Amino acid sequence: MTKQERLAHKQRMDAIRQESIRIVSTGICPQCGTELRRNSSIAGWWQCDCYGMDQFRKPENRGKPSCSFQCFTE
Ligand SMILES: [Zn+2]
Repeated sequence: MTKQERLAHKQRMDAIRQESIRIVSTGICPQCGTELRRNSSIAGWWQCDCYGMDQFRKPENRGKPSCSFQCFTE
């Protein structure tokens, strides 16, 4: 990678992280409108509460279609 390519890559990653931070600050999944929750297994990992199996969701979100939204803020 050239220096310029590395810089362009860093700028893209920064832009993605800034967008993730903006989304997390709203607390709402941009794909389905459900609230986001933090996954404590990795720092800065946020997921839609409808991500994954019902048993890990808040009771009010059980039975909703699953959503694949997740992002990283760190
Ligand atoms: Zn969602």
